[in-house]
Amino acid sequence: MGSYLRFLLSLFLITQVLVAVIALTAFVFVTISGTRPGARPTPTPFASPSATAGASPTPGSPSPTETAAPPVEEPTASPPPPDATPPPAAGDMVKLIIPVAGVRASDLRDTFNEARSEGRVHNAIDIMAPRSASVLAAADGEIVKLFYSDRGGITIYQMTPDKKFVFYYAHLERYADRLAAGQRVRQGEVIGYVGDTGNAAPGSYHLHFSIWIATDPRRYWDGININPYPILRNTP
Ligand SMILES: [Zn+2]
Repeated sequence: MGSYLRFLLSLFLITQVLVAVIALTAFVFVTISGTRPGARPTPTPFASPSATAGASPTPGSPSPTETAAPPVEEPTASPPPPDATPPPAAGDMVKLIIPVAGVRASDLRDTFNEARSEGRVHNAIDIMAPRSASVLAAADGEIVKLFYSDRGGITIYQMTPDKKFVFYYAHLERYADRLAAGQRVRQGEVIGYVGDTGNAAPGSYHLHFSIWIATDPRRYWDGININPYPILRNTP
């Protein structure tokens, strides 16, 4: 009889633990989705965009080196402190548009975590489009660099006015006429045309698009990659 009671008692305790876990999970979920509307980037180990992106560039003299992934905060079961000031996150970004004319959100595919050669991770999305489709500035900002690299081909680096985010557009066929570094562009402005330059398979016309949080505005090529897919997927 004693063992039967112990059995009942442990059954009861297990049930209590389960209920507690479920409640905690629900609380965390509500807290996260409540405080940060829009896409919160899944914390991902980062490496410099140039070191990881499938079409990653190697901008001129400052040769970005592969950086080891820093410790990344993992989502935990405990609720976040109520007033932790987070670093810039995707939610802080202005509303983006899909940076290729004629592409709808439903056409997008999440290729952010796809593997690339030499153990790299894509850290970008490839937006398939017809050759010469217009590439549009995803948001207002400044063109910080026009660059040609073996991987990225003809590329553009654009920084947001607050210098928190960088947009990288690669495999372009060509730039828009008169586009130049230092130029301010408005969201939706044509900055280039879709191509297959760099290491894109010939004829596989697409825009390789990535976003990173600029850790140092002077090192525009370096930063923490965030996945453009959930952000662009929510565009109207
Ligand atoms: Zn790509």
